[in-house]
Amino acid sequence: MPEYRVPSEELVKASLVRVFSTRHAVNSQRQLKRLVEKDLKSKETYRVGEPRLRQIALDSGLLDIEIHCRETEERRSLVRCPVCGERLRRVRNMTVFGGSVTLGYRCDRCRYWTGLRRRVPTRYVFTRRP
Ligand SMILES: [Zn+2]
Repeated sequence: MPEYRVPSEELVKASLVRVFSTRHAVNSQRQLKRLVEKDLKSKETYRVGEPRLRQIALDSGLLDIEIHCRETEERRSLVRCPVCGERLRRVRNMTVFGGSVTLGYRCDRCRYWTGLRRRVPTRYVFTRRP
């Protein structure tokens, strides 16, 4: 028997509502995880992984998520969004020769974007939607 349980999406959503009923913003994903796990704790201990928590927060429609990134020297192309896993859209620019060049990528779901120098997410700020 594991010593903790994995909460359903519904439980996590309900917990997010409670957590944000007393605060406007949470400044990191780790802190949000701690708050949700503390909120869910009863006779049983719950654990929710940070990437899953971020997905549920995105899907909930309750929160705005601000994505802080650092720029790296990496220039490989990107297919999937590092924040939410959605397929990225290429941002292109037309050239005078009738072709197009890729300027970067962006995600329509969570609004992550990157130039050709890869921006790597380092911190998330979660804010209650008005
Ligand atoms: Zn995304």
